[in-house]
Amino acid sequence: MNTQDTLVAYHAAAGKAAWNVPDIDTAPPRRPIKTIGIIGAGTMGGGISMNFATAGYDVKIVDTQQEALDRGLSVVRSNYQRSADRGRFPQSEVDIRMARYDGCLSLEDLADCDLVIEAVFEDMGLKRKIFTELDRIMKPGAILATNTSALDIDEIASVTSRPQDVIGLHFFSPANVMKLLEIVRAEHTAQDVLATCLDVALEINKIAVVVGVCPGFVGNRMLFKRQDQAMKLVYRGVMPWDVDAALNAFGFKMGPFQMADLAGLDIGWSKGATTDNPIRDALCELDRRGQKTKAGYYDYDENRSPVPSEETAKIISDITGAEPSQMSQDEIVDVCICPMINEAVKILEENKAQRPSDVDVVWINGYGWPADKGGPMYYGDMIGAAKVLEVMEKLGAEDPDFAPAEMLRQLAAEGGKFTEIDTGGLKTARV
Ligand code: NAD
Repeated sequence: MNTQDTLVAYHAAAGKAAWNVPDIDTAPPRRPIKTIGIIGAGTMGGGISMNFATAGYDVKIVDTQQEALDRGLSVVRSNYQRSADRGRFPQSEVDIRMARYDGCLSLEDLADCDLVIEAVFEDMGLKRKIFTELDRIMKPGAILATNTSALDIDEIASVTSRPQDVIGLHFFSPANVMKLLEIVRAEHTAQDVLATCLDVALEINKIAVVVGVCPGFVGNRMLFKRQDQAMKLVYRGVMPWDVDAALNAFGFKMGPFQMADLAGLDIGWSKGATTDNPIRDALCELDRRGQKTKAGYYDYDENRSPVPSEETAKIISDITGAEPSQMSQDEIVDVCICPMINEAVKILEENKAQRPSDVDVVWINGYGWPADKGGPMYYGDMIGAAKVLEVMEKLGAEDPDFAPAEMLRQLAAEGGKFTEIDTGGLKTARV
């Protein structure tokens, strides 16, 4: 088999394996799912709801204000309209799908839903409040899901009297387009809840990966490590566009700073705030909040093309005081990518993922990992554990958060492969 065929075969096998959850093989009964409740008609709630309306489910969507609800539903309609205009489906289908929606302003209206997915702001206090309400309101047996990006789902479940019905359904933005769905199995999630969610994922045409509860789950937890290192590089005098260019050359369509500009630098920031990221704070104060303000780390021209910014370079040099550094693209890639591989090994050691190929499925389908590099685990095997360990020993000496995983040391010592790590699968307290 040539390299290309090997990769295609690996991706096919990895995608198939991800659906296999050993302890639900006995096909327990599924819960019937007809009506979906979505809480929050924002970016994620709107996108998530479209998956269900498209697949023929009835959707009730709730927001706090009529205006937010109207805005959310009009974004949904215009997304459908754009697809119809492009000939993806007939015009009549736009109305058929929109007729499946019922916009509401009270959680009480969701009482009869079979599955409810919460997609409000990323705020534990708010999510606890909503799940306390859902516990009171929802019919017995309803599945209560959260789309949190990184919060502790066991804590969210703990405010209910039915933690067995609580699960994470972590969609990726734009949720109506991105194929990946991280299904987060919390400590008390019932087997039939998990099995039902896997079936629903198939119905709405997603690629599901079952993961455990930890900050950021699998995808974001690894992404945070890459972002940390990217920022450390900036503090060492490497410019954001040089970091991005190295990752673009590696095969990512977007590097960390291009991604930050697209998402908006002001997420989690408010005027006058001093966060642990003073460069971001300074950019936001100058109204450089990303693509939406036509300036962020980059300047943007009329066509939204990013251009390195002298203003950003000056802010960075004032804050960091670092001399400009000419690090090679290969070095930048090592420093950004090896910590992701190391973190994936820690995730497997902690039994928060079922198998190494699941990590690759997450990154290929949710984060634009370049297909020719297989996925973080596959790529780890391409460069070898000894190389990854060498980079991590250096980074770990500077910051203990980046200390090499025990199993990485073992693989390097024994010439083992990342894709063959077997730590016994996902474990929650109840499995
Ligand atoms: P958003 O700000 O676009 O939307 C949140 C919506 O929730 C708003 O319309 C708001 O009015 C509504 N809301 C707030 N309180 C409410 C309440 N009590 N009842 C009903 N509605 C309420 O936020 P978002 O980007 O869609 O993120 C939502 C969740 O999804 C967060 O937990 C976030 O971490 C997670 N998430 C976001 C992304 C992303 O890329 N944006 C990706 C994955 C997960």
